[in-house]
Amino acid sequence: MPSYSPPLRDIRFVVHDLLQTERVLAETGAFPGVDRDLIDQVLEEAGKMAAEQIQPQNQASEAEGCRMEKGVVTTPPGIRAAYAAFVAGGWSGLCARPEHGGQGLPQMLAFVLNELTSAASIAASDYFGLFAMVYHMVQRHASPALQAVYSEGLASGRFGGTMCMTEPHCGTDVGLARTRAEPTADGSWRLTGTKIFISAGEHDLTENIVHLVLARAVGDPPGSRGLSLFLTPKILPDGARNGLVAVTLEDKMAYAASATCQMAFDGATAWLIGERGKGLAAMFDMVNAARLMVGSQGMAATEAAYQIAAAYARQRLQGRAPGKPAHPELPADPILCHPDVRRMLLGVRGYIEAARALYLGLGLEVDIAERHPDPARRKAAADWLGFLTSTTKATLADFGVWCTNDCLQVLGGHGYIRANGVEQLLREVRLNPIQEGANGMLALDLIRRQIPRDDGALWRRFLAELETEAAAAPPALADLAAGLAQARARLAQAADWIRERSAADPSEAGAAGTDFQRMFGLTLFAWQWLKMARVAEAGLERGNDDGFLAGKIMTARFFYRRMLPMAEGHWQSLQAGAETMMTPPPDYFWPDA
Ligand SMILES: Cc1cc2nc3c(=O)[nH]c(=O)nc-3n(C[C@H](O)[C@H](O)[C@H](O)COP(=O)(O)OP(=O)(O)OC[C@H]3O[C@@H](n4cnc5c(N)ncnc54)[C@H](O)[C@@H]3O)c2cc1C
Repeated sequence: MPSYSPPLRDIRFVVHDLLQTERVLAETGAFPGVDRDLIDQVLEEAGKMAAEQIQPQNQASEAEGCRMEKGVVTTPPGIRAAYAAFVAGGWSGLCARPEHGGQGLPQMLAFVLNELTSAASIAASDYFGLFAMVYHMVQRHASPALQAVYSEGLASGRFGGTMCMTEPHCGTDVGLARTRAEPTADGSWRLTGTKIFISAGEHDLTENIVHLVLARAVGDPPGSRGLSLFLTPKILPDGARNGLVAVTLEDKMAYAASATCQMAFDGATAWLIGERGKGLAAMFDMVNAARLMVGSQGMAATEAAYQIAAAYARQRLQGRAPGKPAHPELPADPILCHPDVRRMLLGVRGYIEAARALYLGLGLEVDIAERHPDPARRKAAADWLGFLTSTTKATLADFGVWCTNDCLQVLGGHGYIRANGVEQLLREVRLNPIQEGANGMLALDLIRRQIPRDDGALWRRFLAELETEAAAAPPALADLAAGLAQARARLAQAADWIRERSAADPSEAGAAGTDFQRMFGLTLFAWQWLKMARVAEAGLERGNDDGFLAGKIMTARFFYRRMLPMAEGHWQSLQAGAETMMTPPPDYFWPDA
């Protein structure tokens, strides 16, 4: 059975040395008592819980899967035990308000918790993350009366929650939603419609489930502007069963332990949360949080796969090291001697560590956006999150698939065998480029909404951040600084190219989208690697290293020399323009054409 060792050394490096979390949180004045010691204690305990109580059930729960009978969903016993351990440890209320029984800790710690539990079991962490997001949505958008009914249950883990957007005919294009809401005389609403693919739509983990549903109030206009957000519980406050039921459990490629349901709402009692007609904007608070969670699951699963692959590469004996045997006393050398195996393992490190730095950095921005006393600072952090979230999700999700795939390759045929655990991780991460906004659609969001936003102010801020980082590099990292400056210039050139071309032909933005998104993602990682290398270099100058800081710089160089150049390939491909893909007529795509 695979095991998982929480990468606390690297997480502490990011949290303390890179992000200076203690100092930044102190500036908010919102978290008295949250110092380095407390943060370390939380990391330690979260890691222990993930490795000892969440991970051991992961493989068995996937094999067993959820079951459904007459609308009742039973989760695997391992998932129930993992959920019970999570709740008993107080983790469900980590960031919830103390008046709801929560611990009131920073969101950045929930980001770390999410990485650790996702690496241990993505299926289990899906339940944990979703329920916490629904708690925060209720705080942000529901009326005080609804908050009084649902906050404590969600914070304590007694209640679960869902996000209900997708319908059979409407996924990426949410504005097509047909679920309708009719008002009643008492101010509540009746929801009727079908939602599909609803994570945790029905299960046996909690005594109630709080569904957040996008629906169209009768008479409201078509399209996304006509959508409102409703809260509809499985069990009504008077204890009666509400008019909603899970009708199918999806039979899917992975995550068998996560109950993905088709839900039928048949006049279900619901309450409007937020403003009528502004439901999609409200739901986007949750979508953005979910995007970061989905992206981080790719990174977390890859960490779990890396640990298996790296251990395997050290002990599997096949072939000989180039030149002369590394271990003549053995019948063959460990496969770690082969440059191609090293390429894969280092590529995975190049992804995971940059992804972690980026993801936790955004976690800290969430705390600033929510709790900083200065409104200008809050707005700047919220804008920054808005600017970077969709590309972070897409990049972490894509690399998660490629890198978990490389981990499987390191194990050869033994990676394809279930017992080693990597094939499960690969099947699981395949969801991430699809869920919470298909990556191709997010590429368009980057080009059409984020870059032009506020007259390009955030885009210019991003380019300025890269410039500042390159300028701050010490002489020992001059090669990396030059690499970042070049990637920055190329990215800016690509953005200009797309803007000019798409003014004449709207297909150009869509045609360039994925290449541009990948250039952007690689540049984001390059930015993180130079920051980490700068901090590592400063630590080395202080003279205390056991190899960790020198290792950081080695991986940074690997990233710059072997991974960042992929951006140039995307630039070449992007310049081929829309013509190559828009010329074939629709009939060309029929298999017999
Ligand atoms: C396991 C699982 C769990 C899920 N959990 C939830 C949940 O809890 N709540 C919920 O509401 N939904 C959930 N979903 C739904 C998920 O978010 C959708 O599958 C996703 O939004 C894509 O919608 P779709 O599947 O209908 O694909 P479609 O919208 O039909 O798109 C198909 C493909 O077309 C392309 N495409 C579509 N539009 C564009 C565009 N504008 N630009 C470029 N390319 C485009 C993309 O490549 C896309 O992958 C879940 C799905 C799965 C599989």
